[in-house]
Amino acid sequence: MTLIDLRSDVKTLPSPGMIQAMSSARLGDEQAGEDPTVRELEAELAGILGHERAIFVPSATMANVIALLSQVRPGEEILGHEHSHLLRYEAGGGAALAGALLTGLPGDDGWFPGSLVRDHAQLADSTHQPRTRLVIIENTHNTAGGRIWPLAPLDDLYATCSEVALPVHLDGSRLFNAAVAAGVPADRISAAARTVTICFSKGLGCPGGAALAGPAEVLRPAQRIKQMLGGSMRQAGVLAAAALYALRHNITRLADDHEAAQALARRLHGAGLPVDPARVETNFVLLDLAGLGIGRKEALARLAGAGVPWSNGHRPTVIRAVTHLGVPATAINDAADRIIRVFGPGG
Ligand SMILES: *Cc1c(COP(=O)(O)O)cnc(C)c1O
Repeated sequence: MTLIDLRSDVKTLPSPGMIQAMSSARLGDEQAGEDPTVRELEAELAGILGHERAIFVPSATMANVIALLSQVRPGEEILGHEHSHLLRYEAGGGAALAGALLTGLPGDDGWFPGSLVRDHAQLADSTHQPRTRLVIIENTHNTAGGRIWPLAPLDDLYATCSEVALPVHLDGSRLFNAAVAAGVPADRISAAARTVTICFSKGLGCPGGAALAGPAEVLRPAQRIKQMLGGSMRQAGVLAAAALYALRHNITRLADDHEAAQALARRLHGAGLPVDPARVETNFVLLDLAGLGIGRKEALARLAGAGVPWSNGHRPTVIRAVTHLGVPATAINDAADRIIRVFGPGG
């Protein structure tokens, strides 16, 4: 029985083409600005995102905390989605390292309207209230199930934040999934943000690496903060080569992952399982166990036992499957058969 690993799109191995690019990369000392492949990646990515500069960092978690450290001072407030990765899954770094007050805003699909920012933001100097300094958005939104910010609310959010002079940080760890699914170039989504995080180790299929893009005035202090956090590397071109390969070869194919997730969702829904294909916009499928009378631990154990492991969703009864380049389209029917058997009578 072959393993069809649906736990996350980080569970990929570099493809032969990527390994070839890594092994032939020109290398230098990244910390000294001497790695030509890192410099090439930073320039190419900045162009794609519609930004002045980009810096290569080890992880998207580090890119996010650098974005906060370079734009917010201790005691200041950041507004973001209550279940965003930055608020829930980064070990409290925004509070512990940046000293920021992170305020969560609601939104069932991972996005929130500009009016909510207008209602919550503290913009006046006050002896009592924390000053709001930054708004963070996540696109696609991880815990909402790979949901996309629709373009109209996205434009509204950017316009509102611009009117009240609040910069926006876009956690675009899966920005390219959002762009491919929405059928727009990435900069249509990223150019209006002040800073943008990109993750190369998710659907882009790299063994590591991330980047922070933005204006030079933010990225100059950001470079120093990267050094402070221990994020400067040496011959990092070996990783940057993987990232460059991914930018050139692995973006348009994200549509295959979205199709695979849609196909899986339709099969499961068709078999009567609590999955809603209408909410599958990119590469995530959420299944709510609430009505099945089976606990999450038990469900995950059975799925793993059938060679189709899923992982936890952010709510206690929700589990998720994530498609990626390690799950070929031809494996989806097999995966669906096994999952349906797990939850079916006698499963
Ligand atoms: C995975 C993820 C991150 C962190 O990425 P790492 O490279 O694993 O640190 C940040 N934001 C979102 C939305 C993510 O899904």
